[in-house]
Amino acid sequence: MTIRQLPETLVNRIAAGEVVERPASVVKELVENSIDANATQINTLVRDGGRAEIIITDDGCGIARKELHLALERHATSKLSGEDLFNISSLGFRGEALASIGAISRLKLISRRLGDEEAWMLEVEGGRIGDLEPVAHPIGTRIEIRDLFYATPARLKFLKTPRTELGHINEIMKRLAMAHPSIGFALNDGDRDLLSLAPIGGELQNSCLKRLASIIGREFAENALEINAEREDTLLTGYVGLPTLNRGNAKMQFLFVNGRPVRDKLFYGALRGAYRDFLASDRYPLVALFLTVPPDKLDVNVHPAKIEVRFSDANKVRGLIVGAIKHALAEAGHRASTTIADGVFASARQSHIPSSRGYPNFINIEKKFPQKEDQGPNLFSSNNNCDAPLAASVVNDGFSASTSESPDTSGFPLGVARAQLHETYVIAQTSDGIVIVDQHAAHERLVHERIKHSLETGGIRRQGLLIPEVVELDPSSAERLLARSDELLELGIALESFGSETVVVREIPALLKNCDVQSLVRDLVIDFDENDEALALKDRLGDITAKLACHSSVRAGRRLNADEMNSLLREMEATPHTGQCSHGRPTYVELKLRDIERLFGRR
Ligand code: ADP
Ligand code: MG
Repeated sequence: MTIRQLPETLVNRIAAGEVVERPASVVKELVENSIDANATQINTLVRDGGRAEIIITDDGCGIARKELHLALERHATSKLSGEDLFNISSLGFRGEALASIGAISRLKLISRRLGDEEAWMLEVEGGRIGDLEPVAHPIGTRIEIRDLFYATPARLKFLKTPRTELGHINEIMKRLAMAHPSIGFALNDGDRDLLSLAPIGGELQNSCLKRLASIIGREFAENALEINAEREDTLLTGYVGLPTLNRGNAKMQFLFVNGRPVRDKLFYGALRGAYRDFLASDRYPLVALFLTVPPDKLDVNVHPAKIEVRFSDANKVRGLIVGAIKHALAEAGHRASTTIADGVFASARQSHIPSSRGYPNFINIEKKFPQKEDQGPNLFSSNNNCDAPLAASVVNDGFSASTSESPDTSGFPLGVARAQLHETYVIAQTSDGIVIVDQHAAHERLVHERIKHSLETGGIRRQGLLIPEVVELDPSSAERLLARSDELLELGIALESFGSETVVVREIPALLKNCDVQSLVRDLVIDFDENDEALALKDRLGDITAKLACHSSVRAGRRLNADEMNSLLREMEATPHTGQCSHGRPTYVELKLRDIERLFGRR
């Protein structure tokens, strides 16, 4: 066969194959055009999942009559002034969307610029452009697309159900709306509004949060931490959710680069890094982040649909994201998400109380509490002996009626401890509600944070055991344990060989005073048997510290006195990341009085 130049329509159809994968791609290209045209309101109407009809109207700058033809030509754009592909500040620049869409559908382009007396319309059918006609239309642009893919039937076969396609359209509209809060967005499928977002004025960060709240949900806005960080010429803003607000997939993780929604491996990796210590690996935080990068440090021309970008300094971007999130999470201290309490109330409302049996007998669980100046012993201070036998009077009066008046809870976000139930849960009274702490989870987290902090600042302090602990193991376990003795020493555990089947533990971390050394060592052996030997213990700090904490003092099932309970609460307030355990589960739940009152029909 001889070589021939392909006709224009065919070239456009080939290009359309890359740009227009499905109806949502059309919506994306057209809405981006409207955003580039400085529209303040963009409305999308779709029928049959976009297959039958897509109509997008905007109140943007419009297209001049003499340029309407050109807008439909391939490689015709108003957005590249020079020849620089590395200085792009608009969403579009390839000049092929309208040409591609026109090549595979029936397209109507209507536009009117400010000052024009009338609007003009051009029709395209399967790539053939008709003649200009005057029509009545307000300032802005209206693009109508019918019978998408009629000219490329092979593509039609790949379309999913109208519902699924509509879902994709909704998704892309939402993403674009998140990045442009000052623009109003509406999506209608002929029957109902799927999206109706009014333009939000005012300061950007604030309007951004409002927009995110209306798209991702109120719970996100309530449980998100603000991000505002800068590294040289790169700016990162947006919101990240508390670890306790998480999902089973990454669908609620949004990244925008210079106003463009992108999916980027670097971003997902950075998120995993930032949340590693606070979430199990199969849980995903909710995040919406906006990167602003100088256009010349970014290649946006790596994907035909422009959903991927390439950074000239990827490490810097990654470092910025991880650093900013870690900082925000540390600042959040002991905060855990409010959604947990919401869940408690939802399930409480669902369960009904059997009326024939009457209500359970509540005992008065009032309890002595420490004065504010006396914040109780520090659970971690070296002179604190958490496992010392508790004075009988203190233990018992936690469960008997007492005449103490209501405590002064001011200044204590996690409140003043009033009781311990089931030797596991500490109940505290706050100024406007109650807090229930899972003492085991909380203590585990505190130990984790302490160990991490010590490792970062000069090492873990060890404490010699008065009587070294001799632990008998099988020879191979002993060998495996001893092979890691250097690493264990770094974590504060000094052990050495004592014959082939025995190890002797001489020192343990000072902050784990009085831990059950025998079972700790056995647990570590099991851990080493089960886990990858190549992985350094420090990289599995969450698992290891959980084990260490587990065998020290405040585990579940241990009775705490008032001072111990309150010092646990104060420690939690003072230590970052204590709102959740290492797997993203909460360490405490806060129930507000107003919600409790509602539960009992008092409100
Ligand atoms: P690109 O967006 O890459 O420039 P398109 O094919 O999407 O290419 O659009 C071609 C041109 O048509 C744009 O550069 C712009 O000048 C004009 N245009 C398209 N849509 C609109 C719109 N909604 N409002 C104003 N101008 C538009
Ligand atoms: Mg475009």
